[in-house]
Amino acid sequence: MKSISENPDFNNTETGEFPCISCHTNCCKEYVIFVNAHDVYRLATGLRLAPENFLEIYGAKDYSLGINVKEGLIDLALKQNNGTCEFLEEHKDFFRCTVNEIKPGVCKSYPFEMKNGKLIQMTSMMCPVNWNIAEFEKMMISHLKKDESEWKFYDELVKEWNTKHWGKSLSVFLKFMLDKVKSSLAS
Ligand code: SF4
Ligand code: SF4
Repeated sequence: MKSISENPDFNNTETGEFPCISCHTNCCKEYVIFVNAHDVYRLATGLRLAPENFLEIYGAKDYSLGINVKEGLIDLALKQNNGTCEFLEEHKDFFRCTVNEIKPGVCKSYPFEMKNGKLIQMTSMMCPVNWNIAEFEKMMISHLKKDESEWKFYDELVKEWNTKHWGKSLSVFLKFMLDKVKSSLAS
């Protein structure tokens, strides 16, 4: 069974086999995909959809970083259908991410992370075989740095919201968030 990440840029592993080929896209089925402001902005503009259409709210994992809105203290994640990411499309013999070009940063970086300045595979990864880290090093390091800076931007934005606007509705927060990203990209 082939799966979503079958991509010519990602075509090697320690064993020469592309990991996603022998995997049933576990990562898109097992994880709730939490998103930041840039992730939501890219999806909303790319799909031309209001974020409410593809986002779900969850109780905040970290109380100091949750978004304080009328609906509660929350985090934002992608909606799921039957426990699977709503953007995963299943065909007879393969899976496809329908938002591959604009998928969240966490999806792009999985299953890699940085430890002590080195790119490594997550110890808890769901991939059936090991990836060839050297093959991905340059691209992933730059991606992970960008992702880290986008999460920092998001944390600052949430702190500002919680200080100045807390208690207003989620839809007001979403507009606030998208406006912040838009003006940061314009500057
Ligand atoms: S956005 Fe795409 S890659 Fe990310 S979980 Fe959903 S289907 Fe998988
Ligand atoms: S769990 Fe790993 S191998 Fe499986 S689809 Fe996700 S990234 Fe690919």
